[in-house]
Order: sequence, then structure tokens, then C-alpha cells
Amino acid sequence: MFDVLVIGGGHAGCEAACAAARRGARTVLVTYRSDDLGQMSCNPSIGGVGKGHLVREVDAMGGIMAIAADRAAIHRRMLNASKGSAVRGPRVQADRRAYRLAIQSLVAASGVEVMEGEVSSLRFSGTGVDGVELSDGLFVSARTVIVTTGTFLAATMFRGDERWAGGRQGSNAANRLGAQVRELGLAQGRLKTGTPPRLDGRTIDWAATQPQPSDGVAWNMALAGNDAPLPQLACAITRTNVRSHEVIRRGLESSPLFSGSIEGRGPRYCPSIEDKVHRFGERDGHQVFLEPEGINDHLVYPNGISTSLARDVQQDLVRSIVGLERAEIVQFGYAVEYEFADPRRLDASLQHRDVPGLYFAGQINGTTGYEEASAQGLVAGLNAAAESIGLVAAHFDRGESYIGVMVDDLTLQGVTEPYRMLTARSEYRLYLRADNAVTRLGPMAIELGTLRGPQETLVRSHLEGKAKASAALAQLVSGEQLGVADKARKPLFEWVRRDDLMDSVRSMLPSSPAVDEAIDDAVYAPYLHRQRVELAVRQRDRETAIPGDFDFASVPGMSTEMQERFIAASPADLDQASRIAGVTPAALSALHFALARRA
Ligand code: FAD
Repeated sequence: MFDVLVIGGGHAGCEAACAAARRGARTVLVTYRSDDLGQMSCNPSIGGVGKGHLVREVDAMGGIMAIAADRAAIHRRMLNASKGSAVRGPRVQADRRAYRLAIQSLVAASGVEVMEGEVSSLRFSGTGVDGVELSDGLFVSARTVIVTTGTFLAATMFRGDERWAGGRQGSNAANRLGAQVRELGLAQGRLKTGTPPRLDGRTIDWAATQPQPSDGVAWNMALAGNDAPLPQLACAITRTNVRSHEVIRRGLESSPLFSGSIEGRGPRYCPSIEDKVHRFGERDGHQVFLEPEGINDHLVYPNGISTSLARDVQQDLVRSIVGLERAEIVQFGYAVEYEFADPRRLDASLQHRDVPGLYFAGQINGTTGYEEASAQGLVAGLNAAAESIGLVAAHFDRGESYIGVMVDDLTLQGVTEPYRMLTARSEYRLYLRADNAVTRLGPMAIELGTLRGPQETLVRSHLEGKAKASAALAQLVSGEQLGVADKARKPLFEWVRRDDLMDSVRSMLPSSPAVDEAIDDAVYAPYLHRQRVELAVRQRDRETAIPGDFDFASVPGMSTEMQERFIAASPADLDQASRIAGVTPAALSALHFALARRA
């Protein structure tokens, strides 16, 4: 019997399996094809604003995504580099093949057993899960099961009038498992996503486009860095134009999005080009980023023109764009519609509230993106291992991490459209920065034992470096020492808040990421203090637990609408109850009294 069985070798599945193995659980990962482990279904890039924060947090917990991203990076860009550090987002363009191979070697080194096959059903004993059955009839028994089937459950693909079953290009749909999940009432509905056509880079007129080189400054996603970086390539930018939009409008009648064939909602922040033209009709162009898919690969990913229009329309659209007049399409774009599960049925460990031992992570929970999937995989993997071999659970608080923000949003509010991480989702974003992920999560990783040898040494040395940098910023210095007419002696962290003294303060300190992080803390100190006060209030509300059998319908003076909102979200405490969307102060106060009476 395995301690943890993971269904699916995508971004959630690989991270979940490795996280469970790091905690010492006997782990098996069952997936259609082992050479698909780490496959990127859509654009070959990792990170970005919000998403990059998640990757750094997964890394701080000993995860694999950041390490693989560094090994495969062929273009790096710190998004929002000119803005405050809270909203800076590290993003790498990855060599698609190198990324897959990096993930495969990290999974192989983790001790996870990989089994090829299709899981056709979950198996239960009593109230809990006890394993899975494969399509060839083999039963694999496990104490806990993590479902990470991404876009594959009962999935249909679309392009113009074409329809076919499949979770992504070249892969089957998981129809049997999809049917069981629906029968058990675990599915909530359908969502959709899409991908652009891929182009042959040799047929692109690069001289007509605007080059976008990789960042000159070297940085890495992972704390471990990377000794063998790949050569960096340039991306390029072009635009759709009025003629492209005419082509799209003419092609809309064959669009599955507009004919009603696709019912599921797509990702708001990554819409198809037909959707953009329809919604923002007044615009005369949209940016298209031409991103190479690899070093020894001619494929180019035109980021910004995801589409499920018919093949001939895609061809005309591509050729209407500057630089792409003679571009050859190697693979046409398409959309995929798939079943997802209601994340409100999960607790903060991503375990199903009604089915002990069953966890869900990744796109199946209504999210979109590799990074969101990997972060959920980490949570489910750490916790399924804890559940099966009796370890302390890993709890991610929304005040401490974007992982916590996402899990809290999903399990409390649920989703009606694909959920993507954005820094705007956090009320603590000045604290939850990509540059301080190790400081925020490193101590928890050490305590839970989720880091392996060299990673733990690096995390410990970062934490020590940070403590030293904070101590250096506490030294008293007079204004005169900094070159201004002020005799007062104040800690450096106070002087550094003056923009005109930033460079002078920096010149008194060694240059290191830990010092940069400590300076950011000093600059944001007044806001961080306010956030700590808010967190203390939340902590008090968290101590008022709401029992699992609490009857919201019996609370005097609470409207049916409010009762329904509480029942759907099943808050575990007063803090969670206070953050459910649409709940009124009056309903909260009624709940408060009812809980106090019951105590
Ligand atoms: P996946 O990466 O989908 O992995 C699921 C894994 O489960 C696969 O390995 C599959 O083989 C396996 N599996 C499924 N069912 C079974 C079964 N029954 N038995 C065994 N194995 C099984 N994200 C963005 O952020 N932006 C985009 O623009 C974007 N566009 C996309 C376009 C397309 C066409 C697709 C398919 C996805 C797109 N995504 C996009 C989403 C992104 O690919 C996912 O968010 C991410 O891959 C989710 O990771 P996951 O691990 O949850 O699932």
C-alpha cells in the first residue's frame, strides 16, 4: 500500500508527489505517459506578477518548479522592474523540452515511483478513499489520493467546426474518471481555456518586429541558483491591426466561442484574440509577443493570439500581422473545455471535507496556470503525506504567503471563472514579496522538514544573512555621516525612507539580496506595522471556531441569502466567515452572538 497516490503528472501532480516524498511518504504518481511529466500545455514560460511570487514560495518550501525553470530558462524578465518590489514579478521563458527533462530528472531523484496508466476510477472503503483502479483493471491501494487531472476530465477540444475528445493536443480525455467524479457530485461545472497557433520561426521576418532581449542582470527563480545556464535568446513584439480584426470578425460565425458550442467560462486575464476583438472593439491593435519555444527548436509561440477560430481564419489572421506575412503555422490553435471540482468542498489542506484521504490540486480546482497548479500540488502533497504517516499538517496563512491567499480564496469563495494569481488578491502585498519568500516560509519549511540537505543549508544561510542585514540597518548614524546637515543620530532604517538618502545608506552596507530585502522592509515599515495589527485582529477572530455541525439556518435574524452563503463556504472560524464575499456586517454580528450563546 502507498501512503500517497497522485493521479496526473502535470505541474500540480509532479510538485505534489515530490512534496509528499520529501516528507518521507511512500509515493506513487500515476499518469498517462511518463515522458509527459512536466509538459507545458500552453506557453513555455514560468512566473510573472503574482505567479512568480508563487514559484518563489514553492521554492522556499523545497519545491521543484523554480529549479526546473532556472535550468530551462532561455529568456528572463523581471516584470514591473521599475515599480516597487511588492509588484515585481520574475518570469522566465523556458526551453520547452529542457523544462520537461528537468522536471523528469527532479521527479526521478525524489524517490517517487512513476506508473504509466489511465486511472479510471477512485475506490472507497467506508467513508474514505482507499486507492484507484486503472483502465486495465489493476487496483493500486493508497492511504491518500491526490487528483491533479488538470484540463483532462471529460474534456472536449474545439477549433472552428471541429470537435474532438482530449485534454490537450495529442492526449486523451479522462472520460471514465470524469463520469465518476460527476456521479459522486464532486464536479461543479465546466471551464475553458485555449492556446494560439505555433509558428515556424524560420518563416518570421524578425527584422520587422521589435526585439525584446533577456534581462541583462542575472537573477534566478530558485534560491539554489543555476551553475549551467542556457544561452539567452531574444523575444520580439509585434501587433495585430485593423486588418487582423476584420479577419477575426468575418470568422466569428465559425467560432465555437460565439456559436454557443463552448459553455464554460475562459480565463479573464488570458482571453482569446476573438474575445479581445469582440470586447474591446474600439482598439486598433493588440500586442503579440513572439516567444521562441527552445534553443534547438524552430517553433515560436505567439503570445496574445490564443484562438479556436477555424484553420483558414487562423492562417489569414497570422498573415495579417507585421512580421508574420509569410509565417507558416506548424500547429493550429484550439480551445479545450473541461470539468472542474468545487474547491469550496475542500479544507485548507486541499482535502475533501466529506471524503477523508481524497485531495484535489491544480486546474481541476478551477485555477489556471502552471504556477497556481504547482503551488496547490505542494499544499496537497505535504498534507496528504502528513495525514498518511502522522506528521504535522502544513498550513499556509493568507497573511504569510500567496499560497495561503490562493488556498483561502478557493476554499472559501469558490470560483465561477478560471482563477489566476494576481498581487491585487492579497491585502498584505507589501509584505508578500517575491524577494522575501524564503524569509517568510523558510522557518516553516525547516520546522516541517520539507527541505533536503543543500536546500536547507541555503535557506538557513539566507535567514542568517537577513538577520545580519536587519541588524546593520539598526545601527545609529547621524545625518552628517550621510552627507546632510542633520546632527541627529537615527537608525539607518529610518534614514533609508528618505528617497534622497537611499544611495548614501546603500553605500554604507554590503551589497546582497538580504540587504535589498531588509531595505525594502524598512521602506515599507509603516504599512507593514499596520498589516501586523490587522493580522493580530484576524488571529483573535480565528480563535472563535465554528463547529463543523453548526446549523447556520438556526441563527436568529439571519436572512436565507446569508445562510446560503455561509453554508456554501463552510467557514471554519469567525475570521473566515468575515471574509466570505457578500456577507453583511449584520449577518456577521448575528453569527457572532449565536456562537457566543453556544459557547
Ligand atoms: P495538467 O498540466 O493539465 O496535467 C494533468 C495531468 O494529468 C496530465 O499529465 C495528464 O496526462 C494526467 N491525467 C489526466 N487524467 C488522467 C487519468 N485519468 N489517469 C492518469 N493521468 C491522467 N494556463 C495559463 O496560465 N495561461 C494560458 O494561456 C493557458 N492556456 C492553456 C491552453 C490549453 C490548450 C491548455 C490545455 C491549458 C492551458 N493553460 C493555460 C493551463 C495550464 O496548462 C494549466 O493551468 C496547467 O497545466 C495545470 O496543471 P495541472 O497539473 O493542474 O494539470
